[in-house]
Amino acid sequence: MIDLVEKLYKNQTLSKKEFTELLNCDTDTAERLRALAEKVRIENYGHDIYVRGLIEFSNYCKRDCLYCGIRRSNNNCERYRLSLDEIMECCGEGYNLGFRTFVLQSGEDSYFNDDRICEIITTIKSKYPDCALTLSIGEKSYDSYKRYFDCGADRYLLRHETANKAHYQKLHPSAQTFENRRRCLNDLKKIGYQTGCGFMVGSPYQTDECIADDLLFIKEFNPQMVGIGPFISHKDTQFKDYPSGTLELTLKLLSIIRLMLPKVLLPATTALATIDPRGREKGILAGANVVMPNLSPVSVRKKYQIYDNKICTGDESAQCKNCLDLRVKSIGCRVVVDRGDSRNI
Ligand code: SAH
Repeated sequence: MIDLVEKLYKNQTLSKKEFTELLNCDTDTAERLRALAEKVRIENYGHDIYVRGLIEFSNYCKRDCLYCGIRRSNNNCERYRLSLDEIMECCGEGYNLGFRTFVLQSGEDSYFNDDRICEIITTIKSKYPDCALTLSIGEKSYDSYKRYFDCGADRYLLRHETANKAHYQKLHPSAQTFENRRRCLNDLKKIGYQTGCGFMVGSPYQTDECIADDLLFIKEFNPQMVGIGPFISHKDTQFKDYPSGTLELTLKLLSIIRLMLPKVLLPATTALATIDPRGREKGILAGANVVMPNLSPVSVRKKYQIYDNKICTGDESAQCKNCLDLRVKSIGCRVVVDRGDSRNI
């Protein structure tokens, strides 16, 4: 039998059938996959782990993604939005702690029209010209994306969610189309953003074939960043009784993606750390090289609840940073003060 781990390492891709096979490999093969992904991470990024300060500035959302706790139709969600001053305070705290990338994430909140988003971008970039700014604010028009970019936004995260159209339709209301999500990703790349796509592991109705489609799409799209984390149910959604994605499969996918795109930026996500107390460390050992702790004010953290039991909602930013530094150190790596641009260009 051909060795799929070696083949993936050599060719940086596999066929759909081979990916499906690898997803179901035994634990020895999974360990070889992990070790090789760790080696490739070190070859490309050394022992440096990049840190991004995540600012969740609004949980108002006009969309209704079936899996998400801040979806429009969740009446139990207590809504909030941060003022420009509050956002700047988060950045100031983050800057002092050594963060050189800020990620602005939110639901799709119409209050934050393009003028307001541009005001936030220009204010942050003029005060912190040495920092990179990432947006993660959902589906917009080409013109809006272009305006944000021209104001100084450097990067954009928009998970493709699933590369299988039938699966996409099972996770979203019919007004939210697979085609528009793809159009957005293509626009972002065309404009010149360092672009991130990604998906949830173990989302309802996901099959091995869906995951193989995700992997092939990621290879073809060739993003600078890939965000993946386990699906975790939220009590106020119709998926409340669905099981979470597993640690094993998420780690395996991190390793596969590291071997497919050796220079990609790959976060060990908060969702991964939520399903396992050492999720972040395990993610890094499986090939991840980015962590994205929360910089939002403690008073709102519990309200940005896209899934249940999200961790680090009670800690101060400084505590989070210290805890992360220690965790990363415990596995022989170090959190660096750096914009941490992608080497996948
Ligand atoms: N509104 C922005 C940000 C969405 S939240 C956007 O549309 O891009 C960021 C990511 O959280 C989503 O892309 C989704 O993949 C993930 N997410 C949402 N609900 C989740 C859940 N229940 N479990 C795990 N991840 C979830």
